[in-house]
Amino acid sequence: NRRIRVGIAGYGNLGKGVEQAIRQNPDMELVAVFTRRDPEGLAKETGLKVERLADAKEYIDRIDVMILCGGSATDLPEQTPQLAKLFNTVDSFDTHAKIPEFYDKVNAAALEGGKVSVISTGWDPGLFSMNRLLMQSVLAEGHDYTFWGKGVSQGHSDAIRRVPGVKAGVQYTVPVEEVIERIRSGETPELATREKHRRNCYVVAEAGADQAAIRETIVNMPDYFADYDTTVTFITEEELAGEHSGMPHGGFVIRSGVTGNGNRQIAEFGLKLDSNPEFTASVLIAYTRAAARLSMEGAAGAKTVFDIPLGLLSPKSPEELRRELL
Ligand code: NAP
Repeated sequence: NRRIRVGIAGYGNLGKGVEQAIRQNPDMELVAVFTRRDPEGLAKETGLKVERLADAKEYIDRIDVMILCGGSATDLPEQTPQLAKLFNTVDSFDTHAKIPEFYDKVNAAALEGGKVSVISTGWDPGLFSMNRLLMQSVLAEGHDYTFWGKGVSQGHSDAIRRVPGVKAGVQYTVPVEEVIERIRSGETPELATREKHRRNCYVVAEAGADQAAIRETIVNMPDYFADYDTTVTFITEEELAGEHSGMPHGGFVIRSGVTGNGNRQIAEFGLKLDSNPEFTASVLIAYTRAAARLSMEGAAGAKTVFDIPLGLLSPKSPEELRRELL
């Protein structure tokens, strides 16, 4: 049984996480990293084999699965359909509203190339989606809740940094504990956006900037902050570097259902992550194994976590899984 030969397309937080996760999985080997930046510079910096993304096609026969680590906003909508024609791929596309359209494009590309393309895996979308589906199917009558955090939201942090007078900043999404406790104890409230999550911003202002104006602009920003209770705390650059440089995240998926004559059944799946990109990368690796196996069985097209049997994620054989985990 030879190892699964992996390529990494895009070397940001997630790409680095994938590189590290490959080292924890002896059935995989990293063949090369592909980047849009200068490959030589990145090779020197990392000690890895780095190639130009535009030259990826030269690796068609040397890579079993290409893991796509670009951003969801603009990288993946372009990169996944292109690379899905050439390689089996795995990505973590997370713009929920655009997944149906993304699926159609990637599916067409993957079918054209006869490849398997696992899209939108990670934890949300990914493990959280699986748990929503699982518990909805099991508990026909009930309410679903998803809470995120406490964690850093990249999109909201970027939005803060675009406010005039802001030098740097980070945003934490914080689930409202009291409401989670009510749900855990059997209530099934209808919740407004504001009641589920708070947003806490830590901002480094430029020298002489009007802090009151910055605060007003942030808390009233439509889509990002206006619908939430948002706090803005001004800190120094040193505090930002010392206390806010990690990328923690997590959350809960809860289904609160009833069966029979009103017996309450509560199912909960939770994650508490010190490093969002390293955990997401670890999920991508498990799906890389599944993609390689599906491809060997002759499958093609785009797949989501809903389409892939769980056993394919594990390095263990079906027989071992039946004996040890069933
Ligand atoms: P990121 O660090 O911003 O990296 C995105 C891309 O930017 C990289 O592939 C890289 O491409 C380029 N890049 C990175 N560092 C750079 C630098 N210093 N200078 C210039 N370019 C640089 O984003 P990320 O944190 O890895 O996250 C990637 C995506 O993962 C997110 O957009 C998010 O949608 C997704 N995600 C999904 C889940 C989930 O649960 N499904 C969870 C977490 C994240 P090149 O190497 O080609 O330059």
